[in-house]
Amino acid sequence: MVTMNRNDPCWCGSGQKYKKCHYEFDRRLAMYRLKGCKIPSRNLIKTPAQMEKIRESARINVAVLDYVAARIGAGVTTEQVDRWVYEETTRRGGIPAPLNFQGFPKSVCTSLNDQVCHGIPSPDVVLKEGDIVNVDVSTVLDGYYSDSSRMFCIGTVSPEKEKLVKVARECMELGLQAVKPWGFLGDVGQAVNDHARRNGFQVVQNIGGHGVGLAFHEEPFVSYVARRGTGMIMAPGLCFTIEPMVNMGTWENQVEEDNGWTVHTRDGLPSAQWEIQVLVTETGYEVIAW
Ligand code: MN
Repeated sequence: MVTMNRNDPCWCGSGQKYKKCHYEFDRRLAMYRLKGCKIPSRNLIKTPAQMEKIRESARINVAVLDYVAARIGAGVTTEQVDRWVYEETTRRGGIPAPLNFQGFPKSVCTSLNDQVCHGIPSPDVVLKEGDIVNVDVSTVLDGYYSDSSRMFCIGTVSPEKEKLVKVARECMELGLQAVKPWGFLGDVGQAVNDHARRNGFQVVQNIGGHGVGLAFHEEPFVSYVARRGTGMIMAPGLCFTIEPMVNMGTWENQVEEDNGWTVHTRDGLPSAQWEIQVLVTETGYEVIAW
């Protein structure tokens, strides 16, 4: 155990003395730990320099999603979406994080209708009127990660699907509003889950959000069925995704055996998801990517 001197430079690299920088922060975390709360390890707390690189990565991520949003529609294949993401990401100096990640074959996930997540782009999948599709983009820039996704309604979709997409977005937004420095991560989960249930929908329980920034997937696991007042303390500097998957029917799901990736709803009913990447700040939150 190494104890830092109050006059040493702070561990966060700000150049300030420890006592003027993260000293009170560390004391506060230690207090929560003594109370039995789950606290983030120091390597999850982004330094100002890391935050800047993560923001840079996220600017590419958002631009790529904007690029897709301007072009996606009926008649487009998900293979085409994959090509746009690869070309636009690399043109801007980034690398698509999903490509070759644990063997994932493409640069983006495109999940249609009853697909919950991890849909694989294919020349055989042609988007058509009435489809709802999630496009999940993740970028690596100089080793820094960003991750966000949006839903697209292709042409006119059924009122039921439209409501699902709208409620999924509201769930994400309500989760975001529950992000408060020194609050509990479970506050986010409960805000999401309450809203989905009020609308007669179910939130997927076995897949969730995650810390992100120095790796594609970091601690903590962000559950949307967690309860208020539980889970990790949202210390300033923690960076994670809010990405609830909201199902029209049962939350239960299964992985497609053919490809080992794509998750479908068990009952075949539609699923919708929006994802943002958020950074906890001293006074609230900063949306990093959306
Ligand atoms: Mn994610």
